Amino acid sequence: MKRYLLICLLAVIGLSSCKGFETVPPEEFEARIAGGKAQLVDVRTSDEYHAGYIPGAINIDGRLGSFMDEVKSTLDPSLPVAVYCRGGRRSADAAKALANAGFEVFDLEGGLLEWADAGKPIIDTDNYEVDIFKTDSGKEVYIHALAHATMYIVYDSLNIYVDPVSRSGGKSFNYLSLPRASYVLLTHEHGDHFDRNALALMPLAQLVTNARCAEMTGYGTVMANGDDLQLRDDIKVEAVPAYNKTEGRTQLHPKGRDNGFILTLDGLRIYIAGDTEDVPEMADIKDIDVAFLPCNQPYTMTPEQLVNAVNIVKPKVVFPYHFGNTDVSVIPAQLPDTDVRLRQYQ
Ligand code: ZN
Ligand code: ZN
Repeated sequence: MKRYLLICLLAVIGLSSCKGFETVPPEEFEARIAGGKAQLVDVRTSDEYHAGYIPGAINIDGRLGSFMDEVKSTLDPSLPVAVYCRGGRRSADAAKALANAGFEVFDLEGGLLEWADAGKPIIDTDNYEVDIFKTDSGKEVYIHALAHATMYIVYDSLNIYVDPVSRSGGKSFNYLSLPRASYVLLTHEHGDHFDRNALALMPLAQLVTNARCAEMTGYGTVMANGDDLQLRDDIKVEAVPAYNKTEGRTQLHPKGRDNGFILTLDGLRIYIAGDTEDVPEMADIKDIDVAFLPCNQPYTMTPEQLVNAVNIVKPKVVFPYHFGNTDVSVIPAQLPDTDVRLRQYQ
C-alpha cells in the first residue's frame, strides 16, 4: 500500500514538473500578478477579451498561428508570464508553449469563470464605457459608466460601486453578474441612488454612507459632511456637503443631510459630487484629478452652474453625470481648458 502511495506521489510530482508551468487558483494568481510582478496575458479571442478581462491583462489570442511571434515581440523574457482563458484549456496550451520557449509561466486554474466566481475584478469595455486613470505609483484605476448616478471603479483588485441601482433609464443591472463589490459608496436616500435590491446582492461589501441611509439599511459606516475615513492605507474617503441652495428647492436635498465623496486611491483624487448645486463649500475642494458633477433640473445644477463648479474646483477631468434630459453637449465648449468627457450617465 505504502509503495502504491509513493508511486502515486511520484507520478503527481512528475506530472506537474514535466508540464513546465504551474496552475494556480484565483487567490494565489491574484497575489502573483499584483503590482506588475508578472506579465498578464489573456489568450482568448479579441471579442471575448473586450467583453470582460482581468485588470492589467493584454490580449494575445493563443489559437492564432502568430501567437508565439506576438509573444516574442511583446513580452519581456526576464519577467514571469501569467496566462488565463475562459475555463483553463486554451491557457494550459498557451502556458505549455510559453514554457517550451523558456518563459517562467503560471496559469489561472478554472480560467475567468472561476476568477468571477471568486468575486475577483473584471474590466468590461464592451458593455460599459470605461475610462482609465493612473495613480501616483502607476496603478491603473478603471471607471465604468453604468447609469445616471451609478458607476463602478476598479482599483488594485477591488471593485468599488457608487450609488448602485438595479434599474435606470430603461437599463437594468444584475449585480450578481457584475464583479463582486468590495466597497459601496452611497450618497443619499433617493431612488436613483439608493436601491435595497441592489444592496441585497452585495452582502460582503463595506457600505459607506450618511446617517439617514444607514438607518434605512440597518448597517453601514456613517459619514457626515466633513468626515474622513481611511478604508486602507491607500484608500481614503472624505464626505463633503451636497445640497440645494436655490430658494424653493432646499427641501430636495437639505443642507447637511447628504454626502458628496472625495475618493483618494493611491493619490488619485476622484470627486463624486452627489446631488448638489454649486455650493460655496466647493471652494475647499482641492487637487481633484477627476470630478463627477450632476446636471439636471430641478434637482441639481444647470449647465451654467456646472461650468461654475468646474471653475471653482478646477479638476483635470470632468464627467457631467446625473444629467437625464439635459443637453450636456454644450458644456465642453464652455470649458476649453478642461478635459470634459460625456459618458452614459443620463
Ligand atoms: Zn437626490
Ligand atoms: Zn439624484
